[in-house]
Amino acid sequence: MSDCFILLTAGKSKRFKSPLKKQFIMYKNKPLFHHSLKTALDSKLFKKILIVSNKKIKKINYRNVHLIKGGKERHNSTENALKYLQNKRIKNVFIHDAARPNLSINLLKKLKNRLKKNSAVVPYLNSENSVKYKTNNNINNLDREKILLTQTPQCFNFKELFNLYKTNKEKITDEASLYLNNNKKIKFILGEKKNFKITTLEDIKKLKYEVYYGIGFDIHRLIKNKKLFLGGMHIPFHSGLKGHSDGDVILHAIIDGLLGAMRKSDIGTLFPSNSSKFKNIRSKNMLSPILKLLNENDLIINNIDINLICENPKVSKIKGKILNSLSNLLSIDKNLINLKGKTVEKLGIIGKEQAIACEVICSISK
Ligand code: ZN
Repeated sequence: MSDCFILLTAGKSKRFKSPLKKQFIMYKNKPLFHHSLKTALDSKLFKKILIVSNKKIKKINYRNVHLIKGGKERHNSTENALKYLQNKRIKNVFIHDAARPNLSINLLKKLKNRLKKNSAVVPYLNSENSVKYKTNNNINNLDREKILLTQTPQCFNFKELFNLYKTNKEKITDEASLYLNNNKKIKFILGEKKNFKITTLEDIKKLKYEVYYGIGFDIHRLIKNKKLFLGGMHIPFHSGLKGHSDGDVILHAIIDGLLGAMRKSDIGTLFPSNSSKFKNIRSKNMLSPILKLLNENDLIINNIDINLICENPKVSKIKGKILNSLSNLLSIDKNLINLKGKTVEKLGIIGKEQAIACEVICSISK
């Protein structure tokens, strides 16, 4: 018997004024639902993950992730998922709204733990606002301390929830309501504030305020009998770039730009050129500690703009190859990277084809 994570992405987004359904709006460079999916996968708590959607989703290459067609309302979507899980030996289901992208593994673990002794566990927050309740012509005060604002994932014993769904005829807004309507007991545990729901475009805009910029520059001398590497790619050329590493000016400038934006010193501090450890290192291997730093600090790359300054090779001819490579190495979409070629009117060592330089601006945000 195992657990299943059900990710609901089929919502109608009535409050979301955008032609795109909100679950597919880009958030931190990924469609909204990808965030919860990643958390569920990373948690390793689930034998199966169902994505319930009314929109065609590009095939997701994980063996345990399945796509299910959504229904007209939220509860129809859940019902479709539960029907699919019949006879699949599922013990518990975790039902989550894709519009809550900041779900944490920690919360998943807490919920799972509480399911050992309860057949329904739901996270909640207390209200920070005073709450009034309207009945006919009266407006009454409610005790704020007694208000529970429910979140997702809402977690249930599969069999019990499925049985309730089979007999339910009413429209429900979440599974907790179905339980309460049937006088069933729910264990409420404290949820997380960051696990908030995105309901309007304003919510997404609000999340983008912390932006940082970093600048990077690098230049290396061209020498014979060395391979040329630019942007992590081997570029056929009569010379290569001299350096402690492979001399990849693009990657070095990007690393400095990203470190600058993170306010974390520079490439020379991280990879001292007097250390034999980094001798002849491929520059693409220098990127992983930088990406780790970004990840640990909850930072994402917004965009990168690059000027590659050389007479030859011709940047227009190698641009596509380099952009693909950078997109792979940095795990960001290709359209977030721009590469421009600059020549220097045959002036100086760059003009005489004795060196290649690169300058970069990186933007990141929290
Ligand atoms: Zn360098």
